[in-house]
Amino acid sequence: MIIDFHTHCFPDTLAPRAMESLKKTFATGGFTKVYTDGTAASAKEALSKNGIDRAVVCNIATNAHQEHKVNDFAIALKADPFFYPLGSVHPDSERVEEELSRLAEAGIKGIKLHPDYVRVPITDPRMDRILSALEARGMFCVMHAGYDPISPDRIHATPEMLRETIDRHPNLTLIAAHMGGFAQARGVLEHLVGTNIYFDTSLCSLRPDEREELIEILNRHGEDRLLFGTDTPWSDSKAEIEFLEGVGLSRERLERIYCKNAQRLIG
Ligand SMILES: [Zn+2]
Repeated sequence: MIIDFHTHCFPDTLAPRAMESLKKTFATGGFTKVYTDGTAASAKEALSKNGIDRAVVCNIATNAHQEHKVNDFAIALKADPFFYPLGSVHPDSERVEEELSRLAEAGIKGIKLHPDYVRVPITDPRMDRILSALEARGMFCVMHAGYDPISPDRIHATPEMLRETIDRHPNLTLIAAHMGGFAQARGVLEHLVGTNIYFDTSLCSLRPDEREELIEILNRHGEDRLLFGTDTPWSDSKAEIEFLEGVGLSRERLERIYCKNAQRLIG
């Protein structure tokens, strides 16, 4: 059983436009291939083909007035048991509590935040307010971490900032995407390995320069704090599985990464 804790898809009517604009952004970072057409059906097909049984969908509200619709999409997508959609809220939202209640009532236990898309550092009070609300409710947060081509000159979630955040919110279940920080593996080893933060493994296959550090993180971080992820459509799920299979982890550790840890979070 493999659960992919980091995927993206969009409502059918928005998918072509969303993919067009996101592809341009990703190309500026040197990522030129995509693996779905952006729709849920295409994600399901691409992931199933590579042996993935279930996908967590990381929806992102990139502005405050759109967040309600993003959460409508998440709640609707939950009807398909292949998907476990996450909600999202925006740092400028005046309806954080209402949206979180709506998600919780629909059985959605977590949200995704992308600080680079909203240009707000995770240590900003507006982010902190959201994280406090999640902590109080026992909901989890998947946080983009490290470099993203949308904001090449400023990283809004560095390993240092993530460390500050988990120290301030000891009961928050925080999942730092991309092994704790894309292009930040050294900082992750210094500040985050061994803490209670979760990492998802998405995009490892696209980080040949950091391969040694990524393997060190996989070996040193708590085995109950690692979640398999791909970041479909931006990475090939087959290559992401091959990366993990090729780094010498025990079968038992891999099983936790592929599904047991995720099951504990999403049921
Ligand atoms: Zn992503």
